[in-house]
Amino acid sequence: TQQQRTQVVIIGAGPSGSVAAALLHQQQIDVIVLEKSTFPRFSIGESLLPACMEVIEQAKMLDAVTAAGFQFKDGAAFRYQDKYTTFDFNDKFTAGPATTYQVQRGQFDKVLADEAVTQGVEIRYEHAVEAIECLESKSVLTVTGANKKSYTLEADFVLDASGFGRVLPRLLALEKPSHLPPRKAIFCHVTDHINAEKCSVDYDRNKILISVHPHSADVWYWLIPFSNGTCSLGVVAPPQWLADYGDDSLAVLKQLVNEEPGLATILAAAEYPIKAATIEGYSANVTQLATSNYALLGNAGEFLDPVFSSGVTIAMKSAQLAANVLTRSFAGEKVDWQCDYAQPLMLGVDTFRTYVEGWYSGELQRVIFHPNPDRKIKQMICAILAGYAWDTNNPFVTQSQRRLAVVAALCAE
Ligand code: FAD
Repeated sequence: TQQQRTQVVIIGAGPSGSVAAALLHQQQIDVIVLEKSTFPRFSIGESLLPACMEVIEQAKMLDAVTAAGFQFKDGAAFRYQDKYTTFDFNDKFTAGPATTYQVQRGQFDKVLADEAVTQGVEIRYEHAVEAIECLESKSVLTVTGANKKSYTLEADFVLDASGFGRVLPRLLALEKPSHLPPRKAIFCHVTDHINAEKCSVDYDRNKILISVHPHSADVWYWLIPFSNGTCSLGVVAPPQWLADYGDDSLAVLKQLVNEEPGLATILAAAEYPIKAATIEGYSANVTQLATSNYALLGNAGEFLDPVFSSGVTIAMKSAQLAANVLTRSFAGEKVDWQCDYAQPLMLGVDTFRTYVEGWYSGELQRVIFHPNPDRKIKQMICAILAGYAWDTNNPFVTQSQRRLAVVAALCAE
């Protein structure tokens, strides 16, 4: 018979769910993960940042991730018109891992989930959370199991790691519109046939490439190479701007690649699949990240924007912070979810917010594409691009808006 009560229920076995589960299990906390789908399943969000490697290591999953043979990543490259600039994560202000991977998420998320199971975590696949009742000192979840039968599960605490499923924000009416304007992404995986040595424009397979549309600076593309000769390719733009290009997503994506000469050159021999996917209006926020009943992890909380590949890193950081608070709480310590979880998490989210807003306002692009960057400033910005957005020793973290505005003004001179 199935266990009907546990200390912690985690909704979702994506990166935040699996990591949180492993960290809690390592502290002898009883945890059950409920995952709606079966793994592997597709997920968007394929370029990792080095800062998340520390969390993967703490969750004792680093060996499995390393052994999986994902594409090595050591930085980010940006192209706009004839300007091409790179950030090498080895040359960053904050100490910590400088390299990471670009991953097919179906496989990556399965590696993490399988590791959690190997460590002793119970993951119930094809179990979807349908309802929650938050009581004084416990919560009761209504779950539909793989046999389509409904059952209840009681927990002292619930972690919502349901990503874009946003289970608790929906069920508890916590949704709050994002202040960021809606954007749409069109994407697919291509067999890339890139030959970097023979290519007439700069290209480095060990870096994510972010290209800016030559005539619309708020439209940008990602090219995320994998280790198997394919790349994830996507374009992000305001929906109304894309509407002028028609309804055939794959045709729109190909047309937009052709409008960016650098990308068109790199992908000249690429083979496209028969269809491209789209995702729209993904920026989201909530009124409250945690109470004494639950905490929202990763994308179930606030999601900003994909431009700096920060999603999985924020998801893992939230898992680490929440597991830490829960460990203290189950040990009898008094915890304050606002001060101990929401505020520390938001420090990094707010740093990324400054950079996302600066990207679309043009300030950050001015800094990134400046021909003679100051080395120290570049190292500080590089640390944030590598995911070290919680490093309070970095003035570009603690005073992110002011610092970026000052540097952008200098770059405009
Ligand atoms: P997820 O990985 O989404 O996992 C949630 C899990 O919960 C899923 O497995 C789902 O099946 C399960 N679930 C949902 N509902 C229920 C339910 N009712 N019951 C049980 N289980 C449920 N991030 C990066 O780091 N790098 C990138 O390059 C990047 N690119 C992006 C590009 C775009 C266009 C977008 C929109 C996002 C991108 N992101 C990127 C963000 C990234 O996709 C997310 O931040 C990341 O996947 C969040 O992980 P998570 O653990 O919070 O949730």
